[in-house]
Amino acid sequence: MHTFSYARPQSLAEAVALLETHGADARVLAGGTDLIVRLRDGSLRPALVVDIKRIAELRPGIRETDGRVVIGATTVMTDVAADPLVLRHFPALAEAAAVVGSVQIRNRATLAGNICNASPAADTAPSLLVHGASVVARGPGGTRRIPVDELFVRSGVTTLTRGELVTSIELPVPKERMASAHERRTRRRGHDLASVTLTCGVDATGVTRIAYGSVGPRAVLVTDETGVLADPAATDEAKAAILEAMLAGASPSPRSMRAGPAYRLAMLRVLARRALATAIDRLAAGE
Ligand SMILES: Cc1cc2nc3c(=O)[nH]c(=O)nc-3n(C[C@H](O)[C@H](O)[C@H](O)COP(=O)(O)OP(=O)(O)OC[C@H]3O[C@@H](n4cnc5c(N)ncnc54)[C@H](O)[C@@H]3O)c2cc1C
Repeated sequence: MHTFSYARPQSLAEAVALLETHGADARVLAGGTDLIVRLRDGSLRPALVVDIKRIAELRPGIRETDGRVVIGATTVMTDVAADPLVLRHFPALAEAAAVVGSVQIRNRATLAGNICNASPAADTAPSLLVHGASVVARGPGGTRRIPVDELFVRSGVTTLTRGELVTSIELPVPKERMASAHERRTRRRGHDLASVTLTCGVDATGVTRIAYGSVGPRAVLVTDETGVLADPAATDEAKAAILEAMLAGASPSPRSMRAGPAYRLAMLRVLARRALATAIDRLAAGE
């Protein structure tokens, strides 16, 4: 591993100042489950690593305030998956957090790290998109909210600017009753990234949102407002046509070692139908 400096700031202001001064030469360290791998294999060679775990303002925690659920930047997957607020309002996010890596990984890996890493295969990205999440970012210019849909550019690249870091993730508590479900496909159980990762959300008005990842350079969100997908009286043909249109944005890379494009596209359709059926059942059951 190449040599780098290590800083463990105690305050957010100190962290922002370090990140602003060092720009692209600095990297935030949260759980380290992505970063340490890349430091070891040399694919990232920052001059400075800024450990954010001792910053009081970034303490882990999940709370509800002003119609939003706020998840602190250092909150790990284990806690997201088990949190009563997340389970009640955003079941697909709890399901996605529960399948990241292994128990050991989930005890270290943060939700913020999962999306700041901007892997197209990030398991929590589709659920955050379906549930309309934003990140709160703090930088030299102050604080701003970025919808998660506007955070991702492509693999490893976000719209965070020099000196900015994510301080929390916010999800609006749905105004309409809404149910969601997460599905994923991996090469094997356990520690592999997803070949397809997908979330479907359906609300009481029939609006259906599907977000999918690992089938293109970034996770994609699509919305159907016709109500057809959630309508038990609609024909299978009508539903299939809408679903096809929603999944048309998938463009898996032919160079991936995990799965070929044809397999991913076939699985995308299987998982979309499965997650839609589960979300509709949950909505009907009042879950
Ligand atoms: C064995 C193994 C299995 C895995 N399995 C899965 C899986 O099944 N599904 C999945 O989605 N991922 C998986 N991962 C990837 C990884 O665990 C997750 O992406 C994790 O959530 C990253 O969080 P972290 O806190 O460890 O981030 P870190 O490694 O600390 O950081 C990741 C990146 O985000 C940046 N960053 C972190 N926090 C912030 C912040 N607050 N503000 C700005 N930038 C920030 C860092 O600078 C870095 O570039 C796996 C990793 C390993 C090693």
